Amino acid sequence: MADEVVGVVGAGIVGLAVARELTRRRPGVRVVVVEKEDRVAVHQTGHNSGVVHAGIYYRPGSLKARLCARGAAMLREYCAHRRLPYQQCGKLVVAVTEDEVARLDALAARAGDSLVPGLRRVGPAEIREIEPYATGLAALHSPGTAITDYVKIAEAFAEDVVAAGGEVRFGFPVTRVDRTGSGLRVASPGDAVTVDRLIVCAGVHSDVVARLVGDAAQPRIIPFRGEYMRVVPEKAPMVRGLIYPVPDPRYPFLGVHFTRRVSGDLEVGPNAVLATAREGYRRSDVSLRDLYAIAAWPGAWRMAARHWRTGVREMYGSASKRAYMRAARRYVPQIGAGDVVRAGAGVRAQALDRDGALVDDFRIHRLGPVIAVRNAPSPAATSCMAIAEHVVDVLDGTGAA
Ligand SMILES: Cc1cc2nc3c(=O)[nH]c(=O)nc-3n(C[C@H](O)[C@H](O)[C@H](O)COP(=O)(O)OP(=O)(O)OC[C@H]3O[C@@H](n4cnc5c(N)ncnc54)[C@H](O)[C@@H]3O)c2cc1C
Repeated sequence: MADEVVGVVGAGIVGLAVARELTRRRPGVRVVVVEKEDRVAVHQTGHNSGVVHAGIYYRPGSLKARLCARGAAMLREYCAHRRLPYQQCGKLVVAVTEDEVARLDALAARAGDSLVPGLRRVGPAEIREIEPYATGLAALHSPGTAITDYVKIAEAFAEDVVAAGGEVRFGFPVTRVDRTGSGLRVASPGDAVTVDRLIVCAGVHSDVVARLVGDAAQPRIIPFRGEYMRVVPEKAPMVRGLIYPVPDPRYPFLGVHFTRRVSGDLEVGPNAVLATAREGYRRSDVSLRDLYAIAAWPGAWRMAARHWRTGVREMYGSASKRAYMRAARRYVPQIGAGDVVRAGAGVRAQALDRDGALVDDFRIHRLGPVIAVRNAPSPAATSCMAIAEHVVDVLDGTGAA
């Protein structure tokens, strides 16, 4: 029998990690990654906060909790092996009101179960020792949280795939997938490849590509733009590592934070405003097709009815630098609206079920020879190598989707 061919759609960090894992676990398999852009990591992977999460927030027993812990450890080892940037700068989750202290304690109790390395509760004096310009009533300190450069990691994964005999084809926007006698014909307007099995890791387009392979309509992706501010160089040394607010359990992805970058920059953000295009990095980017798809999904209206107040608040923060920084100043009062400039933005793929529920955990579907990664939000960059192991287990039939 000829060598088996496995296709992967998407050269973001998840697709490339999966492709790399396939070449390692099944050396006889030919792996072909197809990517619509002209290089790796153009979308979420290239526009994220660069944080290697330690897994404080995730529900014990969830895929996120399990794959984040394993993924972070694997990534650390990989970065050391490939000499890629990895700085263990630590993270403080800071409570500034009594109500937040109660939520912080609930978080600490839950995180204790998931054994986040070195996590401990600290008071105001220790907050100052760790981050001299931060204020708060109490905090959780995670010394193992790190920062990295996910674009460099994605590039290294692609090199590994090619070195192992695999292929990464750019400029290949998948628009059709047809079942042939024994496999699948994956086609773009100008090219086609026939594969025995296919793994879809298409990020903000994951629902669109999943529909091409006959997968379910839900969850649908609703794009949310996350905008960053960069702190002026004179004030950037005021924060040593990462300072986060206590997450609101209803919106765990909300809440601007201070993020140190491996470049040495200090950023604040991201917020979360509904994007008017799936690849809408600027406020002026509008796609009527994407807007129509959002409006046509009943879940989007149900989400809007439930969460419109939060949506309006985020839009206000997006329009006004002062409003944006008002939230951040609660943690570091000496950095205000006059100390930041607008930096870039990323677009999150927020999966939404038909009933309007925001999908929190990673979600992976299997349909015979096809696996569709339907929801891989943060911490999917941190978890990518463990997600890849999990996906290949599902493909092999040794793991459940
Ligand atoms: C603002 C922001 C901050 C974040 N911060 C963090 C963080 O600090 N730590 C962390 O762990 N995670 C973070 N995340 C989440 C993390 O970046 C993503 O979960 C991760 O990058 C998802 O990787 P992916 O490969 O699934 O998606 P992507 O990186 O979006 O890649 C998908 C790829 O599929 C391609 N594609 C789509 N459709 C097609 C098609 N039809 N044909 C061919 N190719 C196609 C796209 O061009 C793209 O290259 C953040 C995300 C955002 C947006």
